[in-house]
Amino acid sequence: LVFKKTYSSLSSSEIIAKEKSNMTADRFEHCIGVSKTARKLAELNHYDVDKAALAGFIHDYAKQVAVDEYREVIKTQGFDQDLLNWNRSIWHGIVGTYFIQRDLKINDPEILTAVRKHTTADVEMTTLDKIVFMADYIEPGRSFSGVEEARKITYANINQGVGYQLAHTLKFLIDKRNKIYPRTLDAYNVWGINE
Ligand code: GDP
Ligand code: FE
Ligand code: FE
Ligand code: FE
Repeated sequence: LVFKKTYSSLSSSEIIAKEKSNMTADRFEHCIGVSKTARKLAELNHYDVDKAALAGFIHDYAKQVAVDEYREVIKTQGFDQDLLNWNRSIWHGIVGTYFIQRDLKINDPEILTAVRKHTTADVEMTTLDKIVFMADYIEPGRSFSGVEEARKITYANINQGVGYQLAHTLKFLIDKRNKIYPRTLDAYNVWGINE
């Protein structure tokens, strides 16, 4: 696992060390899996493999940041105050980029946008957005029922993979009677439906 010094003033080993110290061992393994899968999806979709690998690696950097710290950042760093009505599932992408810029010194707008959209997806998705969104869902450590089908669909056609994930995540959230982030629903209406 080596990242070229293109997107941060930090070295590859500094980024890896910070990432590791900011999360549990399981979460770190997940990030390595997402990085490898992002590399593979980039190859298949003619995208910069090194950039995809870095975006995948750091996508959950802020997943385990303390709730109080998130609330403070949302209140003081210019975020939409409606975010206070949500939780870390939603924050770690949208607000997580604040910690990625601050700690990992990564400011590339495409990478930050892919992190921002990796949980909810969005109406507009670039190739990198789709790569990180799907790598997160199908990396080798994932084992939910349907993951094999998700892998098959995604490797054949990443857009269909995005639709599959959105449909299944919505179903899963509704079964649990969880609150749906409006952007997730908007994304489903673009990527999830059969025309
Ligand atoms: P992870 O960070 O690798 O665990 O994966 P994600 O970032 O994709 O998702 C984090 C959690 O957010 C998952 O449990 C999703 O089911 C959940 N999630 C995704 N969309 C929504 C939404 O619209 N509302 C809520 N409440 N949760 C969501
Ligand atoms: Fe995540
Ligand atoms: Fe995801
Ligand atoms: Fe993840």
